Amino acid sequence: MLRRRSPTKPFHKNGGFTYVCPETGTKIIDIYWHRFLPAVLEHRAANKLEIPSGFDEQVEHNWCLENPTMCKERDPEAMPPILEQAKGLMVEAAKFVANGFSVADDPTYQKRIKICKPCRAWRGERILGFGRCSQCGCTRLKLWLPKSHCPLGKW
Ligand code: SF4
Repeated sequence: MLRRRSPTKPFHKNGGFTYVCPETGTKIIDIYWHRFLPAVLEHRAANKLEIPSGFDEQVEHNWCLENPTMCKERDPEAMPPILEQAKGLMVEAAKFVANGFSVADDPTYQKRIKICKPCRAWRGERILGFGRCSQCGCTRLKLWLPKSHCPLGKW
């Protein structure tokens, strides 16, 4: 059902990571994992299909089972390409300005960091321990932005 050749590098031939939704038959393809997984989740949410807790880990686990060699060779520290990170930063900055430079309250921040810390995408040691998300490339600062969201829909 899932084909994932590399979690960090794009395909140059034959499309990209592929998911065929078992319920709708829709095929989702993307060359980047960090865009592919949110697209799968969005599709399931849009069709009111179940997204069990830990679905992203399950998807990754399935891929590793199907692709044991590539799974071993992947770089767990990899971030999205720099252009994607820059685009994400501009989007978040625009939202920050549009919201009058307001920040999230402390309970919201605490709730988010509690979800991020055990997440497999969280790299807590990055930026001198400040931490960042390897799924979107954003730093911990994103957790303070009231209108931001987790790329995997966890918060
Ligand atoms: S923002 Fe989402 S994907 Fe990124 S570390 Fe937090 S919970 Fe995980």
